[in-house]
Amino acid sequence: MLPEVSSLWLLRLLRDVQLAQFYRPILEELNVTRPEHFDFVKPEDLDGIGMGRPAQRRLAEALKRHRSGLKSKNWVYKILGGFAPEQKETTSPSDSPRLSLPEPEGGLKCLIPDGAVCRGELLGSGCFGVVHRGLWTLPSGQSMPVAVKSLRVGPEGPVGTELGDFLREVSIMMNLEHPHVLRLHGLVLGQPLQMVMELAPLGSLHARLTAPAPTPPLPAALLCLFLRQLAGAMGYLGARGLVHRDLATRNLLLASPRTIKVADFGLVRPLRGTRGRYVMGGPRPIPYAWCAPESLRQGAFSSASDVWMFGVTLWEMFSGGEEPWAGVPPYLILQRLEKDRARLPRPPLCPRALYAVALRCWAPHPADRPSFSHLEGLLQEAWPPEAHCVRDVTEPGALRMETGDPITVIEGRDRGKAKLRDVPPARAPRRNAPLQRAKVVSKSLESVLSLGPRPTGGGSSPPELRHARAVTRGPPGLPSRPPLASNPSQPSQPPRERPPWPRREPPASHPPGTPGPSKATVPSGGLSPDSELQRRIMEVGLSVHGVTHQECQAALRATGGDVVSAIRNLKVDQLFHLSSRSRADCRRILEHYRWDLSAASRYVLARP
Ligand code: AMP
Repeated sequence: MLPEVSSLWLLRLLRDVQLAQFYRPILEELNVTRPEHFDFVKPEDLDGIGMGRPAQRRLAEALKRHRSGLKSKNWVYKILGGFAPEQKETTSPSDSPRLSLPEPEGGLKCLIPDGAVCRGELLGSGCFGVVHRGLWTLPSGQSMPVAVKSLRVGPEGPVGTELGDFLREVSIMMNLEHPHVLRLHGLVLGQPLQMVMELAPLGSLHARLTAPAPTPPLPAALLCLFLRQLAGAMGYLGARGLVHRDLATRNLLLASPRTIKVADFGLVRPLRGTRGRYVMGGPRPIPYAWCAPESLRQGAFSSASDVWMFGVTLWEMFSGGEEPWAGVPPYLILQRLEKDRARLPRPPLCPRALYAVALRCWAPHPADRPSFSHLEGLLQEAWPPEAHCVRDVTEPGALRMETGDPITVIEGRDRGKAKLRDVPPARAPRRNAPLQRAKVVSKSLESVLSLGPRPTGGGSSPPELRHARAVTRGPPGLPSRPPLASNPSQPSQPPRERPPWPRREPPASHPPGTPGPSKATVPSGGLSPDSELQRRIMEVGLSVHGVTHQECQAALRATGGDVVSAIRNLKVDQLFHLSSRSRADCRRILEHYRWDLSAASRYVLARP
């Protein structure tokens, strides 16, 4: 059979290096019809057609020579093969983006014949295409479940920017190999262009976080594990000189119940220069609510801005997938961050130590944020201790537990004053049992808890326990809380060891320096002043959706400890941040709705 005109270049190239016998296998088995297709051919593919490694080296040399004299007009080559050493994005949507990317290292990626992949159910859709579940039949005949991302094609073929982003994503992924980074298997150069990727059968973490009941919430310890996996993967990307720019739970995929993978590399860019930054060359969509101030202000991205996004991703994880800065218009986010020095509030289920890590990620100056490798250590230290119950708890008012039930210790200082809030589902028969909102456990938890060791080191803060399933997520229909620190002049800070309020004088019979009263003699139900404060803070916290410990404390301080007034003031704050109305108006609306924040929120949202 005569060679086709369009593939004469291949025959010539192979003849030059005495490899003409591979012309048909390369054309027909590897589906290579253009020089740039070789970008996706791996050494194993060439092994598969019987080409030895020395012959492969000759072929690579010939390709290099061929390309240096080649001025292809082909769009794939233009984008994948013709990168200019340029850092800035193009601003015109009609231009094909050009950028400098690292050379493939781990061998050329696989070019997959069109017929080898069959697409099945739709898994999701992104900005430049749809993702289907698929089955890839390997040359050996084996089949492998995969995910297939197809480029959306307009009536006149692929659109410039989308095509550029798609191919850029391919180019980036080609070079990545990490247990927590989604793997690219190869590319199908068909119509449409398709990326064949590792399948993450459990979908996105965001979908899992927001899954409705009866799907149980993810236990805190598992979220901590995900955070460490994420920090490892991001450290890997940073070490390769890449910035992700779109880190969020929607872009973390669950490969198994305990494994996440970073995905969606459409916004990834190489870092350049001594400052290791990438600066956008013009306006293009970026995920505002996840972005660091310098990204919003100057379009500047770096590993430090990815660290900021990591903090927002942590926040998402512990707030059940809520949207950060919900209700705040994008143009106001930067002002909130810089002028008001506001930060996303601590989600009620987020351990304080982890929230403190998030606050470090949100340091105003990029240089003050921890690196990803430092973050791995910080996360290890903040890891909530694992415990298990050492006796059955059946007292009325207490959370029912059985011996051996696992418990995640979220926070606390004094075991004797511990509260229950987070116990991952433990045993099949009880998995679906409705759990009541936990009250203060009537007896010291010392007697029912056995604290397991932390993964390593990690401080000794004893537990205030929280029961994830016992905590309601606020009334149904209640809009997301506008995530603002209640006092703009006071940016959120890691909690202090001892709350300053209320300061009570010690009783006359116990002057300073002498031992205080025993628990049995402390008034108000055996609680010390500190416990009384904690109790009030908790009461306020449970009554107002989404407020932080610190906000409750500040509200109580402002009302001289009056719980009802503190709750009302916080609700006014919530409504105020949700709408453009005055605080006085918000108070009147709340009064009208008998302080039902959910109803009042619905009212103001319906009448912006
Ligand atoms: P993307 O275009 O990458 O944003 O993907 C759109 C959606 O498709 C994601 O939110 C996921 O739900 C789904 N998806 C993408 N890649 C995969 C994959 N490898 N495995 C399973 N689902 C995926």
